Amino acid sequence: MLVVLKKGVSESATSDVAGRLRMLGLAVHRSDHDGQVRLGAVGDGAPIDWELVRGWPMVQSVAPIPVPFKLVSRVFQPRDTVLSVGRCAIGSHQLVLMAGPCSIESETQAFTVAEAVARSGATVLRGGAYKPRTSPYSFQGLGEEGLKLLRRAADAHGLAVVSEVLDTQLVPLVARYADVLQVGARNMQNFALLREVAHAGKPVLLKRGLASTIEEWLMSAEHILSQGNSQVILCERGIRTFETYTRNTLDLNAIPVVKELSHLPVIVDPSHGTGIRDKVAPMARAAIAAGADGLIVEVHHDPDHALSDGPQSLYPDQFAALADQIRTIAGVVGRTL
Ligand code: PEP
Ligand code: MN
Repeated sequence: MLVVLKKGVSESATSDVAGRLRMLGLAVHRSDHDGQVRLGAVGDGAPIDWELVRGWPMVQSVAPIPVPFKLVSRVFQPRDTVLSVGRCAIGSHQLVLMAGPCSIESETQAFTVAEAVARSGATVLRGGAYKPRTSPYSFQGLGEEGLKLLRRAADAHGLAVVSEVLDTQLVPLVARYADVLQVGARNMQNFALLREVAHAGKPVLLKRGLASTIEEWLMSAEHILSQGNSQVILCERGIRTFETYTRNTLDLNAIPVVKELSHLPVIVDPSHGTGIRDKVAPMARAAIAAGADGLIVEVHHDPDHALSDGPQSLYPDQFAALADQIRTIAGVVGRTL
């Protein structure tokens, strides 16, 4: 339920209402809008006498939130969530460019790619140290050594770091090195992991599952917000369809749909979305034109020898050209890079 308090209600009266809602067995989350306090009161479905709440003197209105994802929805929080990651305010007029290799492979690779993407305007360095691979015989990542290289390469070029967390036990370790914790497509509905990353107190990049509906994706985000962490960035990375020419089908519909339903920022991964190097830039441009808050792009200085996802990785000069194009499109859609 959304409990909107009257304008000008004091902080102590607000705490009093929140306390009374908690006494009814509800979890209470706050969002402020237009000078009014909005309390999202969520419970386990046990019956509550909402007429009683409606009659409390500080309460202006009580209304259901008519979607299953409550805290994620714009009904609860009409204004956009803006997250501060490194030098970028994600979800504001500023677009974010996250870029880097699929996996961290070596010191030379990490530093070469970090230097290139920073020069082109990226503010966040991506790179996996723990990789979810279809085959157990494929490269699984360098582990903590990879995280150390990623952090050093990012720091050398003034970049923030995003890296994937594969399981609950790895959360404290990855959180020690990364500014943003990535939950991969394969783990979107790993609810134990969602809980654990929520408690790390860092922004979470939540990728859309391989075959997940938008509603399932937003419900996964709700798991994180319901744990008290509202710093979630949604990432559309393509879904499984009957099409086989591309690795996945990048669902650009999801951008305006999510923007309407949710206040959370949404970025696009055209690398996994297409799986084909020369299809990455056109889909990246389309994503920004469609209203995405940024991109996460795989870049490698020697993709023919990459240990993962070489065929979809851009060369540094291709990424530089793409960043210039994004700058132009940003101006057209009222954003900056
Ligand atoms: C990745 O970012 O390298 C990755 C494995 O992504 P996804 O979870 O979207 O497949
Ligand atoms: Mn990859």
